[in-house]
Amino acid sequence: MDKTSYIQISRSSYKRNFHYLRKIIGEKTRFTSVIKGNAYGHGIENMIEIAGEAGVNHFAVFSADEAYRAHIATPVNADIMVMGYLDDSQLSWAIENGIEFYVFDKGRLLKALEFAKAIGKPARIHLEIETGFHRTGFEIDKLDEIVALILKNAEFLCFEGLCTHYAGAENIANHFRVMNQYMVYSQAVKYFEQKGLRPRFLHTAGSAASLTYPETIMDMVRIGIAQYGFWPSPETLIHRFKKHAAADSDLKRLISWKSSVMAVKEVEAGDFVGYGTSFMANKKMRIAVIPVGYSNGFSRSLSNTGRVLIRGHRVSVIGTVTMNTMTVNVTDIPSVEPGDEVVLIGKQKRLSISIASFC
Ligand SMILES: *Cc1c(COP(=O)(O)O)cnc(C)c1O
Repeated sequence: MDKTSYIQISRSSYKRNFHYLRKIIGEKTRFTSVIKGNAYGHGIENMIEIAGEAGVNHFAVFSADEAYRAHIATPVNADIMVMGYLDDSQLSWAIENGIEFYVFDKGRLLKALEFAKAIGKPARIHLEIETGFHRTGFEIDKLDEIVALILKNAEFLCFEGLCTHYAGAENIANHFRVMNQYMVYSQAVKYFEQKGLRPRFLHTAGSAASLTYPETIMDMVRIGIAQYGFWPSPETLIHRFKKHAAADSDLKRLISWKSSVMAVKEVEAGDFVGYGTSFMANKKMRIAVIPVGYSNGFSRSLSNTGRVLIRGHRVSVIGTVTMNTMTVNVTDIPSVEPGDEVVLIGKQKRLSISIASFC
C-alpha cells in the first residue's frame, strides 16, 4: 500500500452481476457496458478490462473525451458508441476510427455524411428517436428526409442502431409514459421496415427497463448502474423480488475503499480526543488512528458519527475528521494493532458499509 488508502474493484462481483443480467436479457441480446461518467466512478480503463474479461465487447460513453480513453483501452475486437456530444473535429475522428455514435438531428447526419465521404469510410450511426423523453432525437413525423438520406448514401452511412431512451423506467409512476414511449418507438421500427431499412441493432433499454420491462430488451441493452452492483431504484429491486426467487435477485457492489490502522493508543477518562473539544472520553478508552481524512474524501461531517470496519467489527469515528486522519473507538476490540485492515466502504467478514452511508 503506497497510498494511505486505496479503492478495490472486484472482478468476481462484476462477473456475478454480468451473469445475473445475462440471464435476464438472454444469450442473444448484445450487452453494451455503459462507462460514461468515468464508468460511474469506477475508472474507464479498469472497467473495460474487467468487463472485457467477462465477455463484453461493446462500450457506451457520452462524449469524445471518454471515447478517446476507451479507444486506447479497448482491444481491437471491441466497439465504442458515443451517445452524446461530439463537435465537428471529434465527429471526424470518430468516423476515422470506426467509433459508433448517436445521430439525433439532421445537421449532425449531414455533417457525418460529409466527413464520411471526405475520409472514405462509412459513419457508423445510431439514429435516436424522440419518443417522449424530450431531450434529443428525431420526431417520428420528420423521418422521411432522414430515411431518404440513408437510402441514398448507404455506402457512407452504416445503420448500426435505431434507439431511444426511457424517461424514468426505474419509477412505477412513469409506467404510462414509458409504455407510450415503447409504442412510439415500435411505430418508428415499423416505419423503417416499410421503407426497407433495417438497423443492425434495435435498442431502448438501460438497466431499469431491462430489469422491469422485458419487451424493451430487443437486440441490445445499454447497461450502466446495474453492472456496478446498484439497483436503479428500490422499486426495481422489489419488482424483481416479487417475480423471482430472492436468490436470483442479487447484484453485488464492485467498489471497496480500504486503509489500515496507523496507530493505537489509550486515553484516560476526561481526555479530549483530536482538535478542540468535540469528543471527551468518559472512561479509559483505546483509540485507533486511520490515515484518511477529508482531503481523501471522507467527509468532515462524519466527525463523531461515521463508522468503519476493523477486524469484522463496526467502530465509530470519534472527534473531528481532520485533513489527513480520523480516530475511531476500538475499546471493545483489544486485539487491534497498527497495520490492521480498515474498510471505509465495502465488506469485512459479515458486515458491510455502503456508499449510501456517506449521503
Ligand atoms: C446512462 C445511459 C444508459 C445507462 O443507464 P443505467 O440506468 O445506468 O443503466 C443507457 N442509455 C443512455 C442513453 C444513457 O445515457
